[in-house]
Amino acid sequence: MSGRRVGIMGGTFDPPHIGHLVTAINVRHELGLDEVLMVVANEPWQKVDSRKISLATDRYEMVQAAVVDDEGVEASDIEIRRGGSSYSVDTLEELLANEPGVQLFLVLGADAAAGLDSWERADDLDSLCTIVVVDRPGTTSEPPERFQVVNVEVPRLEVSSTDLRARVRDGRPTTYLLPERVRELIEARELYSCGE
Ligand code: ATP
Ligand code: MG
Repeated sequence: MSGRRVGIMGGTFDPPHIGHLVTAINVRHELGLDEVLMVVANEPWQKVDSRKISLATDRYEMVQAAVVDDEGVEASDIEIRRGGSSYSVDTLEELLANEPGVQLFLVLGADAAAGLDSWERADDLDSLCTIVVVDRPGTTSEPPERFQVVNVEVPRLEVSSTDLRARVRDGRPTTYLLPERVRELIEARELYSCGE
């Protein structure tokens, strides 16, 4: 008997936006996945020195709010519960230990895939999961050659959390770029109102 097919989309999700959701929903459809987990990084080790990251709990609540209407897409706090720096390889191993036989698909935008060489225990990824890469407008780099990847076509949306944080800060529109429930949470928590 073959196990469930589960997609893992890791991210900082500060905030989660339609680029993330459209990717998750379409990869799930194209690959016939049972579900896609949006895994919220506790400490995104590649970003911690460059800007102030919102609380992991706020980012997790935003992801929960973002996926309420999407069947088969779930928020996961597995990396928050584990604490410390968040490495995908640890998450994949934990998910496999919890559900023997599960088939894991690590879903990455092209920008993230281009940096795979620098990931913790990058050599172990291939044996734990199938690496799935989607195009990301603005990124032309390819994943390092030593990684075997599956490319999936999804609608290309030039949306980023960085741009959305700047929009909130400057009072520019975020309608349709962010799920309405996420917009409400940002307003209620006064996130992104100052600084980067
Ligand atoms: P930031 O600008 O803060 O880096 P981001 O928009 O890149 O935020 P992340 O949380 O860094 O969002 O990304 C999580 C994952 O989602 C990464 O694999 C990234 O490549 C992918 N991703 C983000 N935005 C898009 C998009 N518009 N289209 C496809 N993939 C995306
Ligand atoms: Mg990013």
